[in-house]
Amino acid sequence: MQAMTPRHHLGEATLLSYAAGALPVALAIVAATHLSLCASCRRQLRLAERIGGGLMALQTGAPSPAGAREAMLARLDEPFRTRVADAHEALPIDDPHALPVPLHPYFGRAFDALHWRWMAPGMYYIRARVDRGTLLLIRIAPGKGLPRHGHHGDELTCVLQGAYDDEFGHFRRGDLAELGSEERHKPVSAAGVPCICVGGLTGGLRYESRLARAAQPLFGL
Ligand SMILES: [Zn+2]
Repeated sequence: MQAMTPRHHLGEATLLSYAAGALPVALAIVAATHLSLCASCRRQLRLAERIGGGLMALQTGAPSPAGAREAMLARLDEPFRTRVADAHEALPIDDPHALPVPLHPYFGRAFDALHWRWMAPGMYYIRARVDRGTLLLIRIAPGKGLPRHGHHGDELTCVLQGAYDDEFGHFRRGDLAELGSEERHKPVSAAGVPCICVGGLTGGLRYESRLARAAQPLFGL
């Protein structure tokens, strides 16, 4: 089967923040996940890093863009720096049976070995806490969907398997969705195989229905 090229990409502002090491950890890990699956955004990132390096060289008189990247990475915490700095570069291999490399420290390598927790009929999740945010793996059976919700902070979501549809389009493996606190959506898993996504959240989800809100503390979402 021909490898699919993502159609939904990192926004310019997010990419620049990522290049500057300024994205919250939860979002940066999902951005790195998309980068590991998207050659187009990797090219954009290299460009952003050159621009960032050039700007920093102007400010500091430092001659090399590589030095600026080092300076940017030096501002990140050590474990996060090593994981994220090179994660998107480590992956010319796109193995559909393995989780993307940036997610390995949090969820392991293999889809088969994931320990899912029940959330609702046809819906499962695994949560990992990161500094000031949450990473969430969600698996949704074909035709099922999350209740309509907004977010208290920002959310980045990347599709790892299957596909879903919402108000913003059709999202397949590698596709990235960026949602700010103003936007609400109701993602529904497409027909075929279950949809597995990773979401990075800086705040909690904000559900519209009372029932969904009532159930929220149970799942810690
Ligand atoms: Zn992309």
